[in-house]
Amino acid sequence: MNNKLVQIEHVSAGYDKRLVLKDIMLSVEERDFLGIIGPNGGGKTTLLKVILGLLKPASGKVRFFENNLPVPHLNIGYLPQLNKIDRRFPISVREVVASGLIDHKPLFRSFTKEQKQQIEHALEQMEIAELADRSIAQLSGGQLQRVLLGRAIVSHPKLLILDEPNSYVDKRFESRFYHLLEEINKEAAIIIVSHDIGTVMSLVKNIACVNETLHYHPGREVSGEWLEETFGCPFELVGHGSLPHRILKTHQHD
Ligand code: ADP
Repeated sequence: MNNKLVQIEHVSAGYDKRLVLKDIMLSVEERDFLGIIGPNGGGKTTLLKVILGLLKPASGKVRFFENNLPVPHLNIGYLPQLNKIDRRFPISVREVVASGLIDHKPLFRSFTKEQKQQIEHALEQMEIAELADRSIAQLSGGQLQRVLLGRAIVSHPKLLILDEPNSYVDKRFESRFYHLLEEINKEAAIIIVSHDIGTVMSLVKNIACVNETLHYHPGREVSGEWLEETFGCPFELVGHGSLPHRILKTHQHD
């Protein structure tokens, strides 16, 4: 068994007085690849905010580990949803990637030689070195996604969190992007949130479904019955290129 990295214990969280997540239990191990699926408004992004420390749980605990020993913080890389990005901001590709190291830089001092090398390495790893001096306003969706992924991994985080990577729809870069994730997963655990169950199932090692509560499914061979039980809606399997893909059958809620 791998070392544990994140442990969520009995976490309830929400906004004002309304709880969106109730009594969540979840463990993420080093080099895990966890897919989080669930209906819109089910609390997926809220769970990410709790893990990232952006939202304090109403009750329960999030604990982090390194080499199986508890640590107060974890270095986490984050790729936000596309609609959270202001592309008009006049900043270059290299500057965006470098901003992933800001927390690691002494105030009022420039990056060290080693950090500059880390930035160039991330640019090369994401295959965006030739775009380094370009403004992010000039990029395609797929190029911007790789720039933001470069920013998320430049500090070599132990955990990478991706929120709806499909929001950067750019089919030309999709398989390259997934290949990059596989490479990153050799060094870091990944949590990916997506409403596209087909994509999630083809990539991940384990699956969780979040809909106020959390249902954990070890492995990725999810059955229609499990999905129906956890979502409360009927699913069916359809072709999606070479990937299995489940969609909601026509159904009615009471
Ligand atoms: P998902 O990511 O699964 O679509 P979210 O975690 O974004 O779900 O949202 C869960 C619920 O919390 C929704 O009902 C949403 O309206 C509500 N919510 C999300 N963010 C806020 C916020 N900042 N203030 C108040 N309610 C919010």
